[in-house]
Amino acid sequence: MAYIKLNIDNFFHNLNQFALKCGSKEKLAIVLKDNAYGHGLLEIASKASEFGIQEAVVRTYNEALQICKFFKNTLILNDKAFPTHQNLSFAINSMDGIKNAHLGSIVELKVDTGMHRSGIEMKDLDEALELIIEKKLILKGVMTHFRSADELSSELFWQQKNFQIVKEMVKNLGFENVRFHSQNSASTLRCGGFDEDLVRIGIGAYGYSHLPFCYGDYDLKPVLSLWAKKTSSRLLKKSQRVGYGAEFIAPKEMLVSSYDIGYGDGFRRGDASKSLVLANGKKILGRVSMDLITVEGDDDEICIFDDAHKIAQHFGTISYEMTTQLSPTIQRIIIDEI
Ligand SMILES: *Cc1c(COP(=O)(O)O)cnc(C)c1O
Repeated sequence: MAYIKLNIDNFFHNLNQFALKCGSKEKLAIVLKDNAYGHGLLEIASKASEFGIQEAVVRTYNEALQICKFFKNTLILNDKAFPTHQNLSFAINSMDGIKNAHLGSIVELKVDTGMHRSGIEMKDLDEALELIIEKKLILKGVMTHFRSADELSSELFWQQKNFQIVKEMVKNLGFENVRFHSQNSASTLRCGGFDEDLVRIGIGAYGYSHLPFCYGDYDLKPVLSLWAKKTSSRLLKKSQRVGYGAEFIAPKEMLVSSYDIGYGDGFRRGDASKSLVLANGKKILGRVSMDLITVEGDDDEICIFDDAHKIAQHFGTISYEMTTQLSPTIQRIIIDEI
């Protein structure tokens, strides 16, 4: 069966880059939403904990329950309110989120400083904080998210300025022991002088940066590689065709093999007329099927990709989507020492 190798040396290397940037491992929260960006929730959670990470961020309560034992706190970004649990905090994304929270829940208030996707509006901050007190919620954190951290513009600084106003308002209202966090991978790499309590690192921990080159070349290494195994081989005669729609025509006699990966596994089908070059330099011949691809040669197994950023460019998408779509049923194999 097709499988995924997780290069943990690279993962630790990436985490180290961020720890250096922020001054300590304790400031790093590893973002594990959506099966750890397709890398494998439990595998990445346990290794992050082994590295010394104490904070995690997930999307759902269900994800949090699976991994909270590894961390001091797990923040749930996007789910309805659930009963309080001492190692979990919930992001509050709207005024209704406060109203629906269970009495005594530990919450982190998301404030909309310009992305206009989720979070309470800055003008409602006073009211939100009053309601939090009324509902006897425990305010653990106040957070925001940037819309253009990985783009060449000054928008990031405008949002940072707004968040500065939010911080002062929260402090002026007498809230203590509230942690503030706003940074994702791109803004952490891009900005110096880190002075918040936490950074939420996703894509950078997995080895990718989407920052334009002018921000410098960051030393991040891809963690995931996707591999497939041979299911059969055959010798094609000149002009014989391969796969659905017979799109590939053999230009000469050639040995080809099929491998057990396809769009059913979350690998992209793409456009067969622009055939994809795999990590071994060979092309996919004809169309990608649900569970199979065909490639020249007869190696027992082949690496489909070991750099999601490169392959994402071929498909007109981003590394996040290439890895996140990989089916959770593909086996994840941890490679510790290479
Ligand atoms: C996904 C997410 C992150 C991580 O972003 P990266 O670009 O992957 O580092 C941080 N914060 C929030 C709120 C997110 O949803």
